[in-house]
Amino acid sequence: MFDELKEKEISYIDKIYDLIKDKNLTATVVTFGCQMNAKDSEKLLGVLEKSGYRIIENEEEADFVLFNTCTVRENANKRLYGRIGQLKNSCTLNKNKIVGICGCMMQERDEVDYVLEKYKHVKMIFGTHNIYDFPHLLYDILSSTYLDKENKKVIEVLAKTDVILENLPQLRKYPFKAGVNIMYGCDNFCSYCIVPYVRGRERSRDASDIIDEVEFLVRDGVKEVMLLGQNVNSYGNKLENSISFAKLLDKVSSIEGLSMVRFMTSHPKDFSDELIEVIKNNKKIARHIHLPLQSGSNKVLLDMNRKYTKEKYLELVNKIREGIKDVAISTDIIVGFPTETDEDFQETIDVINKAKFEQTFTFVYSKRTGTKASTLENVSTDAEIKNRFDKLLEVTKNVGEEQYKKNIGKVFTGLVEEKDIIDGYLTARLSNNALVHFQGEKSLIGKFVELELKESKGFYYNGSIKN
Ligand code: SAM
Ligand code: SF4
Repeated sequence: MFDELKEKEISYIDKIYDLIKDKNLTATVVTFGCQMNAKDSEKLLGVLEKSGYRIIENEEEADFVLFNTCTVRENANKRLYGRIGQLKNSCTLNKNKIVGICGCMMQERDEVDYVLEKYKHVKMIFGTHNIYDFPHLLYDILSSTYLDKENKKVIEVLAKTDVILENLPQLRKYPFKAGVNIMYGCDNFCSYCIVPYVRGRERSRDASDIIDEVEFLVRDGVKEVMLLGQNVNSYGNKLENSISFAKLLDKVSSIEGLSMVRFMTSHPKDFSDELIEVIKNNKKIARHIHLPLQSGSNKVLLDMNRKYTKEKYLELVNKIREGIKDVAISTDIIVGFPTETDEDFQETIDVINKAKFEQTFTFVYSKRTGTKASTLENVSTDAEIKNRFDKLLEVTKNVGEEQYKKNIGKVFTGLVEEKDIIDGYLTARLSNNALVHFQGEKSLIGKFVELELKESKGFYYNGSIKN
């Protein structure tokens, strides 16, 4: 559908290659935020590598540095500005150095204005909607830097897009596992969340394009894929030849040569019985479901526009645990939502104790300008919220540890992902998403091994290879 545009972008990669091929330039991409951003960064790195850059890690040394930003919570913004400020010196030393910023934060007008005013050494800005146009934007800034010797800036942020460009280059972090976008954007408008504003309306990729990409990845050595979307359970709702997420998952997991399929994130409101059946009947689908709760109070859930109740959520958790043996459930919880009281927070604690999450990601509510919740009055003090957060950490840690202990002594299959920080040790990820540290040879990285779980350390296990 977008063939011409794709040709154009590829032609820019060739032009950049010709322009920089004798310059021995280096580049790096610094990623903030979620798996979606990590995936976008693999695409940006793929373009840079194909264009002739040598990819390095060090942002002080690199000739081209791109920050791929997140804006879900305010602290991500603060961390970014610290890093950008630190690069000022290296830009003075290397006059041709290019510092760029892209991603969710750059979809916000105020942030772009702030960068342009405070960080004069930033030469390139683009948002989430024109990430596909990166080869073109990069060629523009490079030709002004090296050909015209101008001190031009390339700033282009679009309000929306319907473009999905297939098969542009990607540089994967791991050779044996990969993320695969199945959809972009979000239509849910949870009242605290900025994602629908900075990532746009929900758009699903065609199932055939997703299958083609996974088949390509498998031919390229990938054993595990993670299907990515803000709410995978509404996959395909707007497609002409629509199929449900459960059917897509079934199709992907039947691809020969693929050993493990993960997915995230599941919005509880759309989690179907069909999906439970598909997971139950297919061992290649990970025994892990990330099911963000956000709050256990029905009043707060209503104010958050989550469209489920505490009772419905717990019913779903029971159905999942009964249907899928050995499943682990992880969740996200926000404390300090403007209308949350201590009584509401107790409801959240009650759900945690009943749902028995294996893992919980905890966040203090962060006000995001433009969202519905940003107009609400706070009913709690900072001290009250801090107390709740401390209590939340304590309860989730205890519940998680209790769940982890249940698997001690059992043997599970894990995919070895990387070397551990301790010499001679490796880290593997089990189907249920738990990490296991064990002694082993580096040559096992990228392979599946049988591991006996010896000791639980809260959020990971110490184990050993089962001979
Ligand atoms: N689409 C996913 C979903 O619905 O669960 C999550 C996307 S969001 C990037 C990841 C998590 O960030 C959310 O589940 C929520 O707990 C947290 N989050 C989002 N907006 C937030 C805010 N304004 N303040 C604090 N946490 C927030
Ligand atoms: Fe944000 Fe809600 Fe969409 Fe998740 S489902 S990205 S929390 S609006």
